[in-house]
Amino acid sequence: MKYISAGIDGPAGAGKSSVSKAVAGKLGFVYIDTGAMYRAAALFAMNNGIDIVNERERLISSLDRLDIAIKYTDDGQRVFLDGADVSETIRTPEVSVGASNIAVIPEVREKLVAMQREMAKHDNVIMDGRDICTVVLPDADVKIFLTASVEERAKRRYKEMTEKGMDADFEEIKRDIEYRDKNDSERDASPLKIAEGAAVVDTTGLTFDEVVEKLTAMIKEKM
Ligand code: C5P
Repeated sequence: MKYISAGIDGPAGAGKSSVSKAVAGKLGFVYIDTGAMYRAAALFAMNNGIDIVNERERLISSLDRLDIAIKYTDDGQRVFLDGADVSETIRTPEVSVGASNIAVIPEVREKLVAMQREMAKHDNVIMDGRDICTVVLPDADVKIFLTASVEERAKRRYKEMTEKGMDADFEEIKRDIEYRDKNDSERDASPLKIAEGAAVVDTTGLTFDEVVEKLTAMIKEKM
């Protein structure tokens, strides 16, 4: 059986995860959040006292011990590190920055990309990240680059965090987003860029439901 795959790339805070999750729910697809895997890898380094930026060799030599698992429950995708559910722990600003720093390391990417490709072989999937349409699934049936202005993305992230009762500082969130945009687009290893054949969807000024409708229609067209 041929499965359908949709790749959604874009900068931090563009709404990729929440939109992809909703579209997957509507279409009965499996949603794969690849950012969560980079986050779990960053948490692994932090838990082991490894400085991601200054101890790259030590980190690379410990990758054999990196044990990430993705499981699907009624709550959607859950991420496990060394058998423990870290789905919430990986959402802090420290882990966000750590994920962006660890994502520049080719050896880390190689390991996670292999896992992601394997996951897409067994289901209709919507996978979101930075390199899905350029590297992980270059032959995806639908390729989308989802974006929005920095201000809009920072506002959304702030709202999301405060609604969850997390401590949030708007300026800090905006700085993190700008830092990650720069880091993600300027790195040598699989930088964030618009893939050939990808449709650019700018969500600034669109409501969540409008974006979900738009993407659902784009995928349905290919089914
Ligand atoms: O999407 P999310 O913000 O959770 O991703 C965290 C970090 O992981 C990003 O800033 C990016 O550096 C990295 N990432 C990546 N490639 C992916 C997904 C995420 O480099 N496919």
